[in-house]
Amino acid sequence: MSAAEFWMYVSICLCVLGVLLSARAIRQRKKWYKALYVDTLTGHCSHKKFCIDAQQWLDTDRKESKALIAFDIDNFKLINMIFGHQTGNYVLREVSRVLEKSIQERGIFARKYGDLFSIMIRYDSIADIQALCEMIVADIAQIPIRHRQIYRITVSMGIYLIKMGERNLDDMQNYAILTRQSIKNKYNTYYDFYHSQMKDAMLENKKLLDNISMALQHHEFQAYYQPQYDAKTQKLIGAEALIRWNNSDGTITMPGYFIPIAEVSGVIKYIDEYMFEEVCRQQHQWKKAGYTTLPISVNVSRHSLYDKEFIQTYLGMLKKYNLTSTDISIEITEGTLFNAIEISEKLVNELRSLGFRVLIDDFGMGYSSISMIKRFKASSLKIDKSFIDDMGKEGKAMTTYIIDIAKLMKMRTIAEGVETKEQYEFLRDHDCDVIQGFYFAKPIPASEFEAML
Ligand code: C2E
Ligand code: MG
Ligand code: MG
Repeated sequence: MSAAEFWMYVSICLCVLGVLLSARAIRQRKKWYKALYVDTLTGHCSHKKFCIDAQQWLDTDRKESKALIAFDIDNFKLINMIFGHQTGNYVLREVSRVLEKSIQERGIFARKYGDLFSIMIRYDSIADIQALCEMIVADIAQIPIRHRQIYRITVSMGIYLIKMGERNLDDMQNYAILTRQSIKNKYNTYYDFYHSQMKDAMLENKKLLDNISMALQHHEFQAYYQPQYDAKTQKLIGAEALIRWNNSDGTITMPGYFIPIAEVSGVIKYIDEYMFEEVCRQQHQWKKAGYTTLPISVNVSRHSLYDKEFIQTYLGMLKKYNLTSTDISIEITEGTLFNAIEISEKLVNELRSLGFRVLIDDFGMGYSSISMIKRFKASSLKIDKSFIDDMGKEGKAMTTYIIDIAKLMKMRTIAEGVETKEQYEFLRDHDCDVIQGFYFAKPIPASEFEAML
């Protein structure tokens, strides 16, 4: 080989090597890009990329009105618990798809972590943002979770309207998240706009949650018992256990004040267990003292119901106090049951086969169609107070309709919140089985209920 040929050969080799190396570098860069800028779960842009783009948008554009939205899926933990993580991941991908479709060129979005998403959009008017949020809420509610499962996915969105010239993205995200948290316990509210008083309200909630945890440790909660009567004979047939919080200053806090926040945070599971054990302990004590006890019903929230250990935990408590499943009934609200029909159906049937009475609480609040109740082998239907309150023509017709349907499905009916003679007589004459309400008795401490046994 001549010297010229040799050098030509060397330069060809170097060229090939160069091409190979730069291809590798491009591949590497693509990999790095993907790792940094793509959310591998959803396939959309990562939160890091979102922050870079959002910051650039804030820094360079001072004319357009922009908003930052933070939202998450309500009870996403439950979706994972009920349907499994794969379905959970599928839901997150579908949510991203909904966002891509609805936001398009109007802005950017990304998943921050878990089920928390961030959106930044330009807008012309408040109505414009509202329309977008409503569209997102509606589309997400349509996401089908596994064949035949009926589970309506809801979200909570916090909206922060960015002030002109404002540039601190972290602050904006915090305000939007704060707003999202503030609507968590509001029924039928899926989005809200940030306002300055929200910070104080959130601090209040945090304080309340800390106090609930302390109260559980210090046994400040007490079960009150509201007697239930046979509508025809007016004989005492049982009671519902209702929680009361005894404060150190002698005042009592009602559940309406702390149950919603306990539900949102999940602490309700510990409250439910506390109450179940409290009622078990009381029933055991009454039996030991020679009283003929009556079934007491306890309220069980969805956080307890969907917990994998739920049935074992509750059976364990019954065993500890030498009781059987006929001593305690389980009240589950209609809303909880119809949120995840197939799982609820399985659980209700299992509870029934173990001998528990299962009561559908607050029935008629608008979650379900009457035809759905036939899927549950529940023992009783508790007609919501709102029907009992309405003694007009329509209210009466609805109440009798519910009683008739329950009868057809071999369920007992319990009327809640009966306050007047007129309500009682109407219910009795229309074959309602059980009456619970101030007309007969208010919730009372164990010592007073004991005197009635
Ligand atoms: P709920 O389970 O539907 O209980 C019935 C509520 O109606 C009770 O309110 C009771 O005091 C009230 N009530 C009964 N009769 C009348 C009446 O004639 N007139 C009026 N105005 N009210 C009547 P309370 O004790 O304030 O409890 C409210 C809700 O808090 C309960 O509704 C239940 O959802 C929840 N709750 C109470 N204790 C527990 C518990 O231990 N665990 C869970 N998860 N929730 C509980
Ligand atoms: Mg109840
Ligand atoms: Mg109720």
